[in-house]
Amino acid sequence: MKVLIINCGSSSLKYQVIDSDTEFVLAKGLCERIGIDGVLTYEKTGSEKIKYEAAMPAHKEAVSLVLKQLMDPKDGVIKSIDEINAVGHRMVHGGEKFACSTLLTQEVLDTVASVNDLAPLHNPPTLVGVAACKELMPTTPMVGVFDTAFHQTMPAEAYIYGLPYEYYEKYAVRRYGFHGTSHKFVSQRTAEILGKKPEDINVIVCHLGNGSSISAVKGGKCVDTSMGLTPLEGLIMGTRSGDIDPTCIQFLAQKENLTLDETMNVINKKSGVLGISGVSSDFRDLGDAAAEGNERAQIALDAFAYRVVKFIGAYTVAMGGVDAIVFTAGIGENDISTRARIAKRLGCLGAEFDEAANNFRGKEGFISTPDSKVKLLVVPTNEELAICRDTVEIVTGLVEDAVGK
Ligand code: ADP
Repeated sequence: MKVLIINCGSSSLKYQVIDSDTEFVLAKGLCERIGIDGVLTYEKTGSEKIKYEAAMPAHKEAVSLVLKQLMDPKDGVIKSIDEINAVGHRMVHGGEKFACSTLLTQEVLDTVASVNDLAPLHNPPTLVGVAACKELMPTTPMVGVFDTAFHQTMPAEAYIYGLPYEYYEKYAVRRYGFHGTSHKFVSQRTAEILGKKPEDINVIVCHLGNGSSISAVKGGKCVDTSMGLTPLEGLIMGTRSGDIDPTCIQFLAQKENLTLDETMNVINKKSGVLGISGVSSDFRDLGDAAAEGNERAQIALDAFAYRVVKFIGAYTVAMGGVDAIVFTAGIGENDISTRARIAKRLGCLGAEFDEAANNFRGKEGFISTPDSKVKLLVVPTNEELAICRDTVEIVTGLVEDAVGK
């Protein structure tokens, strides 16, 4: 089965075509500057990357150009649109309505739209992307895979805020968590690597990228995660503050004479390791600056690691013990020093860090000693593959259902 994976932002659209039988990526790319002018990047696996400008007044034109490129007689990977058997869409916020991936019927899309105010920046573009695909591929099944779904197993004690309960009842203000597709993929792969069933182990997944989150996965089910109503909560991130005293917002707005929106912009876009260091949100730049003696870059790196360590401690207690602590995403997979800064402090939990084993990037591997009671690992995430697997599972079920009827 050939599956088109779509990840739609307000002015961008990432795509991949995966052959689900072999899990081989046939082609991938990106549309940027949708609604402005339009740039398409395309890479057929094994061939040179192509990049060109093409008018993309809206997402429909972007999807249309992607399909045209995928069918290109010279560089394409399909001959006709019918070869795409299903489309898997990355959806951001499913609120409390979606605890798993689902076929995107009109009723489902209306339900997703009903929680748009929980993710006003992220949900509308994904719905626009789905509508564009439906228009161009009206008979192809579409599946939505939600960033929030895996975290829906969190108990009330973990998801409820210490706010008047009526706000939860009236507005569904609670903790949701994000990066769920990644946390699920990585925790399941960890169980496989350890030769255990997910039900039999407790795993802490540290998804450390530009946006970072950490989750406690007890017996295969998420019981807590660091992001909240929005992705702003929890760890210190590239440009997001993570947990702060909410009073900081009022205090800064008054002192700096900022509106609420302007203050939120500071907390989302100008804070995190960028805000602390004044150097960059990229950990490569921070590592270089710290090595040259930049004190604020060092504080940013230390504060980032310290926050991760605190969450690991909390989640170990929340689960009543941990079997494996796993690093993933851009920083988790590639930043050897940041991994070391965190992992070195976990000895008290029974996780013995192996400095020599830690010297690798971008692949699976153990970074704990062979005898370590608690295992430390790096497991690269693959959200597109996870979306592809869910899409196939749902579409295959559909076909079987249809045959059954
Ligand atoms: P997101 O998907 O949230 O945009 P990623 O998971 O792609 O983020 O992670 C991006 C971050 O990973 C970069 O900002 C950078 O800090 C970090 N990163 C990537 N490669 C390296 C590397 N070789 N060394 C250190 N950090 C790296």
